[in-house]
Amino acid sequence: MSISTKPAGIFAAIILAGGILIATGATQAQKNVVATIAQIGEPLSVIAGNRATVVNLIGEGVDPHLYRLTRSDVLKLNRADMVVYNGLNLEAQMLGVLTRLAPHKPVIGVAETSKVRAMLTSDGTVHDPHVWMDPILWATALQAAVDALARLDPPNAIFYHTNADEYFFQMNVLHARAMKAVASIPPVSGVLVTAHDAFGYFGRKYGLDVLAIQGISTESEAGIRKIETLVDTLVRRRIGAVFIESTVSTHSVKALIEGANARNHQVRIGGMLFSDAMGPRGTYLGTYLGMFDHNITTIVRSLGGEAPKRGFGDQLAETETMQ
Ligand SMILES: [Zn+2]
Repeated sequence: MSISTKPAGIFAAIILAGGILIATGATQAQKNVVATIAQIGEPLSVIAGNRATVVNLIGEGVDPHLYRLTRSDVLKLNRADMVVYNGLNLEAQMLGVLTRLAPHKPVIGVAETSKVRAMLTSDGTVHDPHVWMDPILWATALQAAVDALARLDPPNAIFYHTNADEYFFQMNVLHARAMKAVASIPPVSGVLVTAHDAFGYFGRKYGLDVLAIQGISTESEAGIRKIETLVDTLVRRRIGAVFIESTVSTHSVKALIEGANARNHQVRIGGMLFSDAMGPRGTYLGTYLGMFDHNITTIVRSLGGEAPKRGFGDQLAETETMQ
């Protein structure tokens, strides 16, 4: 995602940033940041504005657990001034390259910072990488990237920090609305069933039980026994909706639905959720805030709670969240 096409060069301007007048006489080249996933790259590109270039390697509908770097990715990583990745083994196939780059430039694993780890578990042993599912956790993670960018590019540090504060405020607003909406789900249907276990932090934050067919990585397939156990749970708890994910085959979710139907318990697909990738670049669903709005609106409405048909940003197509 190339956010700024503005060429680097000599410029001198008075720029209004968050009410502060900043005189810049920057002569340095624009910094070039490469992020692995769009959940990092897109917010960072908003925060960087036109002062730095931010691209992400993994696009719409692509599973980061399985993603292998292309030659062009490696070229981008080699040329980057700074690399930002999630960590906690999400980008399992990239670790060798990231480790090789680390002595030469800032390589920041935002989910592996001590601040984020302290918020994951008390004993620090959990390795669930899906930190973006909790906006408060994710803001803490993104802050590490913003701090690193500010250190890399001191003339623009105030600009980045001011934009970051504004962005994190928007994340907080969406989170508060999400809390209220999830609280409207009838307790009996407050179970989120998904294809792989990406929603643990989401469930913890919003008070939903989370069940998944595959584990926290998609690297190993779910066995028949696991599906049978979940079918038992669907029937026993009278769960009526399960969710597919944009980055995971629908095969196992369909097997789950068929298994429940065979036992005279009707289950429907509650909608498609963005677990490990976001929507198309350049659209609302391709933004972190839009992706989260879609997920929360889809989940709340499908589980019988109250959320606006077009989402909290009033930008979702009704068909996206109506089942
Ligand atoms: Zn995942």
